[in-house]
Amino acid sequence: MRTTALTDNLTQLTRLGFVNAFLVREDDGLTLIDTMLPRTAGAILEAASGRGAPIRRIVLTHGHGDHVGSLDALREALGAQVEVLMPELDARIHAGETVVAGKVAGSWPTLRTVPDVRLGAGDRVGSLEVVPSPGHTPGHVAFLDTRDRSLIAGDVFTSIGALNVSDHYYWRFPLAAMATQDRAQDRASARALRALNPTLLVLGHGRAVRDPAAEMDAAIGRSG
Ligand SMILES: [Zn+2]
Repeated sequence: MRTTALTDNLTQLTRLGFVNAFLVREDDGLTLIDTMLPRTAGAILEAASGRGAPIRRIVLTHGHGDHVGSLDALREALGAQVEVLMPELDARIHAGETVVAGKVAGSWPTLRTVPDVRLGAGDRVGSLEVVPSPGHTPGHVAFLDTRDRSLIAGDVFTSIGALNVSDHYYWRFPLAAMATQDRAQDRASARALRALNPTLLVLGHGRAVRDPAAEMDAAIGRSG
């Protein structure tokens, strides 16, 4: 596990060079954003203890397997007092409901953990504002840190190589487009996230991008 302190409040965890999760420091401890692939719980817990604060809650950008993979193991290790928060529509998909016509794109492993909270537009999680950004999955959300406008944007963009909107078939990371549910909606979400003028953009896959406006504009220009 590679651990990169990006700001005083935000630490990026990287596994296998291409899957990220994040630790956000709050007054009461840490918020873990996403849980990576299965069998990563131990490494995540080790990274959190290196930050010197307990994990208080686990929030998910979306329900795909490479983001919820270690959720059950972490819930087991941390106990029920650690709250689990998942976007509304993705939680409904995991609960077995049909929320879109046709097949749901990407991997949706069976979870034992039932989220305590279903996230919606405008919800707050500590310093983080929940920003709906559907398209990659029906319920996908991003998190804007209101302290410094860092944006944790899940899989709306990827930055393995060039920054791209995940609707775009990019030879270095075609999996993102293959797993994207609604490509037009995903592009609209990319534009909405750009309009937030983030100071730092971090993603489920790839490097962190500081002052990302120009790269986001270029990615949106290439998308579709
Ligand atoms: Zn995904």
